[in-house]
Amino acid sequence: MRVLVTGGAGFIGSHFVRQVIGGAYAELADAEVTVLDKLTYAGNEANLEPVAHDERLRFVQGDICDPSLVSDLMKGTDLVVHFAAESHVDRSITGAADFVLTNVLGTQYLLQAALDAEVGKFVHVSTDEVYGSIEDGSWPEDHPLLPNSPYSASKASSDLIARSFFRTYGLPVCITRCSNNYGPYQFPEKVIPLFVTNLLDGHKVPLYGDGLNIRDWLHVDDHCAGIQLVAANGRPGEIYNIGGGTELTNRELTTLLLEATGADESMVQPVEDRKGHDRRYSVDITKINSELGYSPRVAFDQGLRNTVEWYRENRAWWEPLKQRAALATNR
Ligand code: NAD
Repeated sequence: MRVLVTGGAGFIGSHFVRQVIGGAYAELADAEVTVLDKLTYAGNEANLEPVAHDERLRFVQGDICDPSLVSDLMKGTDLVVHFAAESHVDRSITGAADFVLTNVLGTQYLLQAALDAEVGKFVHVSTDEVYGSIEDGSWPEDHPLLPNSPYSASKASSDLIARSFFRTYGLPVCITRCSNNYGPYQFPEKVIPLFVTNLLDGHKVPLYGDGLNIRDWLHVDDHCAGIQLVAANGRPGEIYNIGGGTELTNRELTTLLLEATGADESMVQPVEDRKGHDRRYSVDITKINSELGYSPRVAFDQGLRNTVEWYRENRAWWEPLKQRAALATNR
C-alpha cells in the first residue's frame, strides 16, 4: 500500500506518520509513506526524526499548490491523507491569503490529481471549526457550516470541494472533522504548548477575553487512530466527526497548566479577546463510534501530564522555534 501524507512534517501529520512507520496500525503495517510538505514555519523535519531512517519513508519538500509535483507524486498512490494547511486562526486574522491559497486551491489540486491517478481513498482532514460556534448540545455531521474566521472559512471551503469530488466524480473521499488536538510536537503558538513553554520559562500567559470560551480536547494519538479507522473502513462520501470528550473553558485549562508547571495565578495576563472568537465547539461522535468503533482512549489528565512532561524534556525542540517566532514578530 502506498500512502501520500500531505503536511506530514506538521504536528498531527507527523504523529500519523510516526505511528504508521512505527507499526501502530495493522492495516498499514507494510505501507510505504511519501510525505509532501512545504516546510512552512509550522513544518519541521525534526518531527519525523524518530522514523527518518526507515526505508519505507520518503520525504519530499514541496507545495501542494504545485500541480505538476502533486500529479507526479499521486501516481501509484493508494491512499491520500491530507493534513497540509495553514492552521492557526490568529494568523488568518492578520492575513488570510495563504489560508485561501493552501487550504482551498491546494486541496483542489490534490483532489484533481487524485482523481486523475484513480487513488483508492482520499481522507481530507477538516475541523470542527467549520460548524461555527454552539451554545448547547453537539453538532452532528449534517449540521450546516457557519465558519467565523478566515481559517475556518478556508477549511469549510476545502471541505465542500472535497465533498464535491465525491458527488461529481465519485472520487472516494472521506472527510474528518476533529476538535482541538494536543500532544507532543505541537508548534508553540497554539494555546497548550504556548502556555506550557511560557510557564517553563517563567513568562506570563495571555488569556483571551473572559477566558470562558469552551473547547473539546482531543489527544493527537486518538485523532490519528480515528483517521486510520476512516482510512480503512470509512464509507466514501461520508463525513466523520472525531472528538475527545473533554470540554474545558480556557480559564479551566489555564488553571490545570498553572498547576502542572507549579506556577500561580499571577502568571495569567488577561488580553483583549480574539476578533470573532467562537464561544464553544462540541462535536457529536455517535457516527464514528457506531460505524467504525472509535472512542477516545487517552484520559485527558494523563494526556496533559505527559504533554507537559514532553515539553519539559524537549527544550531543544521548541526553544529554536520560539526564538525564530520572536525574531519574526520583532522585525
Ligand atoms: P500544522 O500547522 O502543525 O502543520 C501543517 C503542515 O502543513 C506543516 O508541516 C506545513 O509545513 C505544511 N504545509 C502548509 N502549507 C503547505 C503547502 N502549501 N504545501 C505543503 N505543505 C504545507 O497543523 P496541524 O495542527 O498538524 O493540523 C493538521 C491538519 O489538521 C490541518 O488541516 C488542520 O486544519 C487540521 N486540524 C487541526 C487541529 C488542531 O487542533 N491542531 C484541529 C482541527 C483540525
